[in-house]
Amino acid sequence: MARYTGAVCRLCRREGMKLFLKGERCFKEKCAVERRAYAPGQHGKRRNKMQPYGQQLREKQRVRRVYGVLEAQFRRYFAEASRQKGVTGENLLRLLEQRLDNVVYSLGFASSRAQARQLVLHGHVLVNGRKVSVPSFQVRVGQDVALHEGLRANTLVNEALDTAQGRGVPPWLELDAENYRGKVISQPTREDIRLPIQEQLIVELYSR
Ligand code: SF4
Repeated sequence: MARYTGAVCRLCRREGMKLFLKGERCFKEKCAVERRAYAPGQHGKRRNKMQPYGQQLREKQRVRRVYGVLEAQFRRYFAEASRQKGVTGENLLRLLEQRLDNVVYSLGFASSRAQARQLVLHGHVLVNGRKVSVPSFQVRVGQDVALHEGLRANTLVNEALDTAQGRGVPPWLELDAENYRGKVISQPTREDIRLPIQEQLIVELYSR
């Protein structure tokens, strides 16, 4: 399965914002966006005025990179969001939020979406009691997401869980931290998605 394997902090610097791709490090002074708040590369410090197309493109790249989705898959999400009733931009974000790797991250079982993806790929995550090893699996309302028993003593998982409990889980999820389990209790609304992005720009980009 193809995925981006380069330096992830460069992605944040390119987008000019924290995308929270590295877990704990993102909340510390070591964060590359804090230390070098300009785009990577030789001409990174140049200030170019962005045209509307550039803004739309950047917004799409931001969302794609936050959720760790490649271009082709992102287009499929957009096509699915356009087919659904309602506001396309919000549908798109909802589809991305309900990915299994994002649910595992949002419940706090992993410190980043990349780590959550690894947990899923390695078969450590159960949905309604059955192992699901597909990170893009769409978790529906009422479904139960749990960590495999073998991983419950894992230090990284417990550290991530402690940190996430401090931040709180999104209102569309319910966490039972003692039993390493969570549930999707409703569909995420736009207000529940805390990303500072303008999804309308992505709709405009793909509607060109
Ligand atoms: Fe982005 Fe986290 Fe790296 Fe900061 S530490 S640049 S938020 S991935």
